[in-house]
Amino acid sequence: MTMLKEGRPTTPQLAVEDFAPVLPETATGNRALMLEEKLIFEIGSPDRTGVDFAPLPEGKSRLGGLERSAPIGLPGLSEQETVRHYTRLSRQNYAIDLGLFPLGSCTMKHNPRLNEKVARMPGFADVHPLAPIATVQGALGVIYELGEWLKTLTGMAAVAMSPKAGAHGELCGLLAMRAALEARGDARSVILVPESAHGTNPATAAFCGYKVENIPATPDGRVDTAALEARLGPDVAGVMITNPNTCGLFERDMKRIADAVHAAGGLVYCDGANFNAIVGRVRPGDLGIDAMHINLHKTFSTPHGGGGPGSGPVVFSAALAPYAPLPFVEKTENGFALIEEETAGEHHGGSFGRMVAFHGQMGMFTRALAYILSHGADGLRQVSEDAVLNANYILRSLEDVLDAPFAASGPCMHEALFSDKGLAEGFTTLDVAKGLIDEGFHPMTVYFPLVVHGAMLVEPTETESKAALDQFIMALRSVAERAKAGDTMLKGAPWYAPRQRLDETLAARSPVLAWSDATAA
Ligand SMILES: *Cc1c(COP(=O)(O)O)cnc(C)c1O
Repeated sequence: MTMLKEGRPTTPQLAVEDFAPVLPETATGNRALMLEEKLIFEIGSPDRTGVDFAPLPEGKSRLGGLERSAPIGLPGLSEQETVRHYTRLSRQNYAIDLGLFPLGSCTMKHNPRLNEKVARMPGFADVHPLAPIATVQGALGVIYELGEWLKTLTGMAAVAMSPKAGAHGELCGLLAMRAALEARGDARSVILVPESAHGTNPATAAFCGYKVENIPATPDGRVDTAALEARLGPDVAGVMITNPNTCGLFERDMKRIADAVHAAGGLVYCDGANFNAIVGRVRPGDLGIDAMHINLHKTFSTPHGGGGPGSGPVVFSAALAPYAPLPFVEKTENGFALIEEETAGEHHGGSFGRMVAFHGQMGMFTRALAYILSHGADGLRQVSEDAVLNANYILRSLEDVLDAPFAASGPCMHEALFSDKGLAEGFTTLDVAKGLIDEGFHPMTVYFPLVVHGAMLVEPTETESKAALDQFIMALRSVAERAKAGDTMLKGAPWYAPRQRLDETLAARSPVLAWSDATAA
């Protein structure tokens, strides 16, 4: 199996005029109740304002001649115009609260309202990171208890709560690995990363100064264990392996790989972004993992994307625990203590330092703990089982119409992977994705992982009902059949979105980031 270098087609292949459908134009540009909205600079006028300020008293300027001499061109809108502007734009957005969000590798699951309610309790929401420790015992208790859950669920010895996203957690894990290697006087230079890895893995390793080497995948979509073992040696600091991996498959050789890496003096990082597929069933600590991040915003239902900051706590094996970052919360006889300094190995031994100014994403901690406590241990296990069941339902319902490269090797985990094999000549994964928008669905992840041609990675999550899955399957089946039949209309999709097929290359290469009269013209 090789990595694809060609990427996704980003320039429309046909001009819309070539086959534009006869949709009646409206005088306003609105389409029924979906309103066309101009840029904020094009509506209102600069001298309009929603608030009345008393005129400023004349005073002597102390700016030494540096005063602004021309208006800065901020838009001017009344309160109602402002509210309507943003409400109209928000209706053009797709969101998890509107419908199924099948992005593979992202785990877009329902954000329970209970979590939100808990996070908004004033004692949590208004807590200040510099408040005296005695006054924030409850908040520290939340951090501590969540950390204990994460250690128990993963079977690991220590946890760092401060990393603020999955990628940040990877950095945390690799810094701890490097500190451990350096402490034994054995700084090494290479990190091995499988071909199917998320882009953050090689990026993190490179950012830490390591040379990144790819390990190929087997034809059944897993790490080529023999190739990995053959590459181990005194220069290999460690491996970064995602399990379940980005093809939606469980790495069955994980224990064997970990044992081989350890025998060769290296360390094992596990990208735990897909932990939601195995939580309650597999403890990564039992597989020989040394460090793993957990995306609270994926596995434990806290919002992400535009909806909220992520949070990426990292769990560590006993071997790496001494190198975990500061700060951490400790339970003492007198309540919870926040350990902010490592004095001569007093606490863990050799912390590599700090990742962030304060303690991490407090709002995400309260949400994640609310989610965990409301499910309980048995409920969390049910979550992973249902996530896997839903993904397999999609895989088996569509494998007759879309090529499923690894379906023959058995069930998938939490996401179903398809390829573009079998689409009509000239039709691509992108056409299928854009067609789904017309059907009212956010597209699945496309062109990732790179080990599959024209990949379509679908992750339904456990929170979708069978009715929702059936509707999605029906929509994707219909679009796939049109792509196989060579329906030209699909090449111009989405037709019903506020904008049709965009030239993504142009948008990426020549982005227009500031408004000017010239932009408008
Ligand atoms: C999402 C994801 C990441 C990165 O996590 P962020 O929280 O977005 O930084 C890394 N690896 C995998 C496999 C992922 O799915």
